[in-house]
Amino acid sequence: PYTGPSAAEILSKRKEYLSPAMFYLYNKPLNVVDGKMQYLFDEKGRKYLDAFGGIATVCCGHCHPHVVDAIVNQTKRLQHSTILYLNHAIADLAEALANKLPGNLKVVFFTNSGTEANELAIMMARLYTGCHDIISLRNAYHGNAAGTMGATAQSNWKFNVIQSGVHHAINPDPYRGVFGSEGEKYAKDIQDLIQFGTSGNIAGFVSEAIQGVGGIIELAPGYLPAAYNIIKKAGGLCIADEVQGGFARTGSHFWGFENHGVVPDIVTMAKGIGNGIPLGAVITTPEIAEVLTRRNYFNTFGGNPVCTAAGLAVLNVIEKEKLQDNAFVVGSYLKERLIALKDKHDLIGDVRGRGLMLGVELVTDHELKTPAKLETLHVLDQMKGGFYGNVFRITPPLCFSKEDADFLVDAMNYTMSKM
Ligand code: PMP
Repeated sequence: PYTGPSAAEILSKRKEYLSPAMFYLYNKPLNVVDGKMQYLFDEKGRKYLDAFGGIATVCCGHCHPHVVDAIVNQTKRLQHSTILYLNHAIADLAEALANKLPGNLKVVFFTNSGTEANELAIMMARLYTGCHDIISLRNAYHGNAAGTMGATAQSNWKFNVIQSGVHHAINPDPYRGVFGSEGEKYAKDIQDLIQFGTSGNIAGFVSEAIQGVGGIIELAPGYLPAAYNIIKKAGGLCIADEVQGGFARTGSHFWGFENHGVVPDIVTMAKGIGNGIPLGAVITTPEIAEVLTRRNYFNTFGGNPVCTAAGLAVLNVIEKEKLQDNAFVVGSYLKERLIALKDKHDLIGDVRGRGLMLGVELVTDHELKTPAKLETLHVLDQMKGGFYGNVFRITPPLCFSKEDADFLVDAMNYTMSKM
């Protein structure tokens, strides 16, 4: 049993010693002390079903024994920076990742986070093209350092510091967007941004396949192929941010972009890649990767032996335990049940997403799509669910079962019925 500090003691230390910017999801935050696969346990041993997975950071399940073993074994042997010495772990994971990607996407750079991965990707696009302008989508989240905060397009994540050279295109959001599900119509805005806001040539375009932080927004079908065409014509590189949508999460495909039939020039990833261990990666072609040889480039802990050993274990678990299939089967089942729930509760305006990356948007008015913020907070607090304004994000560990899906939908139904 847990004998550490209580939730109240931790809260008071956090208040005194940690940034006041740290936020909590619930009125009474949970003190989570143990994790096992798709379950979490608080200080009293109370069990919770994790339907949120730390926003897609845990893909194999909490403390998956195979991943834990890989981390422990490598830690006992060597943990170090990879700059100066040879170690097999980084090479093995790079090879395994490259084998998962289409085309000539074969060169891997490791980082410690998604922000770092996107910073590097954006810098490489700028170096390769000799242009500065980047296009990203409104409502996107790509990170919180200088370049990535520029590419992020939600005011609540943007500080008022210089974020130069990014143009934000109209979001191809099938639920709220002006063109509904007609992806190609939205792409015209990219053409306009290039025409009216740049010299005509740009560095690149970055987007998620399903916006995660933005509330599980699936890009309208047909959008990405049309967008990629326009970007390529303007000399830009296409960057796929797979931080949330990659690693088998969408079920039908290993990478989110594959759902749209496009092949990016640069792919970035983090979160699920390490099952909770800090690890990120940028994968591109040998030709583009070449730009970093113009100067010295390194990242002290990027690709260190322990984190890359974890990454390789994650790939093995996804394959061995058929987690992609599971994400597809359980995710499709869960989505069906959520759609049925929508028919029962007027509060649900939209159910969307793929695989185990689903969103339930709550609105007080179906016509006006007025965000039901208070109601969402109530449901979330009752269920200790994930939080984003008025969208319930469902991104559990990929070992989520049908029984878990039933439990989740029943709990949601119960909470909404009581309102
Ligand atoms: N891209 C996407 C799509 C993300 O969701 C996030 C994190 N929420 C990031 C990039 C940034 O990753 P990190 O927090 O690891 O820097």
